[in-house]
Amino acid sequence: MNRIELYQGDITEMHVDAIVNAANRSLLGGGGVDGAIHRVAGPKLLEECKKLNGCETGQAKITMGYRLPSRYVIHTVGPVWHGGEIGEKELLASAYLSSLKLAREHQLKTLAFPNISTGVYAFPKQLAAEIAIETVRNFLENDDWFEEITFCVYDDENYEIYTKLLNQTGH
Ligand code: ADP
Repeated sequence: MNRIELYQGDITEMHVDAIVNAANRSLLGGGGVDGAIHRVAGPKLLEECKKLNGCETGQAKITMGYRLPSRYVIHTVGPVWHGGEIGEKELLASAYLSSLKLAREHQLKTLAFPNISTGVYAFPKQLAAEIAIETVRNFLENDDWFEEITFCVYDDENYEIYTKLLNQTGH
C-alpha cells in the first residue's frame, strides 16, 4: 500500500495531524519554512516554543499548531551542510526518524515534511531527498501505524528530484 505522497506548495496550508518544521536549535523562529509556520500559527506558538529549551540537531519536539490547519507542529533541527564529512547525512536521517517516532508516540496518523536542511542550511537537494525517502520508507515498511506521510516540496528543483526518486523506487 502506498502511504507516501508528494505535494508541491505551502506546508502551512496542509490539513494533516502534524506538519514538521525545519527549525533551528533555539526553536525561537527563523526564516524560510520556520518563519512561515510562525506567521500563520500566531504568537502562541512562539510562547510554547520558549518553554522547550531548544532542540539538538537531529532531534524533535512537538507543540500545538494554534492557527494552523494542522493540529500539531513537530519541530526538528536538520544539520547545516559543511561538506558531508561531519555526520550531516546521519543527522538528517535522524531528524526525519525522530519526527516520525514523536508523531507515532502522539498517535498521529498523517504527517507532512518540508525538505529539511535544503534551504539556508545548504544540504545538497538530491542527497537530502534520497535520505528523506529512504528513512520514511524504511519506517513505513516496519510499522503500519501511519496513514499517510506527505513530502511537501516548495521549489521546482525539489519537486523534480522527488518525482523522479519516488517513481524510480516505486514508493
Ligand atoms: P533549513 O534551514 O533547514 O535549510 P529552510 O526553511 O531554509 O530550512 O528551507 C527548508 C526547505 O523549506 C527549503 O527547501 C525551502 O524551499 C522550503 N520552504 C520554504 N518555505 C516553505 C513553505 N512555506 N512551505 C514548505 N516548504 C517551504
